[in-house]
Amino acid sequence: MFEKIVIANRGEIALRILRACRELGIKTVAVYSEADRDLKHVRLADEAVCIGPAASAGSYLNIPAIISAAEVTDAEAIHPGYGFLSENADFSEKVSQSGFVFIGPRPETIRMMGDKIAAKKAMQAAGIPCVPGNGDPLGEDEETNLKMAREIGYPVIIKAAGGGGGRGMRTVHTESALLNAIAMTKAEAGTAFGNSTVYMEKFLEDPRHIEFQVLADSHGNAIHLGERDCSMQRRHQKVVEEAPAPGITEEQRKQMGERCALACREIGYLGAGTFEFLYEKGQFYFIEMNTRVQVEHPVTEMITGFDIVKEQLRIAAGEPLSITQEQVKFTGHAIECRLNAEDPKTFMPSPGVIDQFHMPGGPGIRCETHIYNGYKVPPYYDSMIGKLIAHGDDRASAIARMKTALSEMVIDGIKTNIPLQQSIMADAAFALGGQNIHYLEKKLGIH
Ligand code: ADP
Repeated sequence: MFEKIVIANRGEIALRILRACRELGIKTVAVYSEADRDLKHVRLADEAVCIGPAASAGSYLNIPAIISAAEVTDAEAIHPGYGFLSENADFSEKVSQSGFVFIGPRPETIRMMGDKIAAKKAMQAAGIPCVPGNGDPLGEDEETNLKMAREIGYPVIIKAAGGGGGRGMRTVHTESALLNAIAMTKAEAGTAFGNSTVYMEKFLEDPRHIEFQVLADSHGNAIHLGERDCSMQRRHQKVVEEAPAPGITEEQRKQMGERCALACREIGYLGAGTFEFLYEKGQFYFIEMNTRVQVEHPVTEMITGFDIVKEQLRIAAGEPLSITQEQVKFTGHAIECRLNAEDPKTFMPSPGVIDQFHMPGGPGIRCETHIYNGYKVPPYYDSMIGKLIAHGDDRASAIARMKTALSEMVIDGIKTNIPLQQSIMADAAFALGGQNIHYLEKKLGIH
């Protein structure tokens, strides 16, 4: 196992990684921006190195600064967390070239999954069900494109191969709008992502978002840890996540989970990853693979009793997976509410000093946050300040526990989305389970 690693992230995930390292006896190096001197994990880490100014471009996205922090502290590996450089193939390549271990998949895998066309092709080849549409880059021939859309059936969606973060997509409902939409998406993609390649697939109208967690080691073993439902979204951002996904049968879980694990073996996947699917009328359709730990990993940990971050560290150190597929057991239901420093109605970010913080507790409650009394939420980064996770014997008891925990939680001094989370937990349709990805925005009156 490693003796010392660099945590190349901030906030709650940096703290989460630090805790896993401590349990495994690994020393930690925190890297932080000038605005983040007071982060909890910076105080707790064995060593801390300032890597640049508040703006992420000069700090958390500054590859040479992060690698030199590993050099000066004699660390062996770098954990990228999520966001920032976690899915940057050039970063993972430079980390390895500099003699350090990147805690994540190989650069080729990250690069392939970052190109939507390459990812879709690889998944089709590995037997993963994809959204209808062959995934070939669209050419200039108008007749061919019109014919393809007719075959797929309207509505279709034009997507940029290099797109990300919910950008670079356009839905087309009628044939008359197709050619213009292709031209517009191409032009925008060229400007935004430096790659004007676009492709076409079926637009699914009311899908749920269901994803499978996988783990694969360097000895050819790969397992899945079941699925999560992340359909409660606003602007393609997840707000609430849960595991298992309501209504998914044991048979479906086993079938899809095993296909994902098999795909990992086929592409030589390494580390933790997530296969994201749209789920409609009983069918799964692959949309993308995330090659990193995800914000919502705790719900899977709560129902499996398994530590995903520790396993990432073990895999990166060359150890075989610590459990087999047969040893994975699912117990009860877990729900996660993301806690954001924002106005619960307008969603405007609300940075500032936290005067009072009281963490809820009790059976089945887990709070993942870096905030503390007097902590100042800086305005420079994502507004997520933590996550509250509730586990219960079944979905109804997980919701009841979450309601109790939210009502106990006190975060004074800034605005948070706790009132929004309370209204979701009290929502009758949410209580039924299985709402689609548009439900939350409809409830909020956005559509
Ligand atoms: P990104 O990398 O930008 O996040 P994704 O391919 O993951 O792009 O898609 C983001 C979101 O766009 C999905 O969660 C879904 O809401 C919507 N979307 C993407 N493809 C389709 C599709 N074929 N049909 C319906 N919605 C889609």
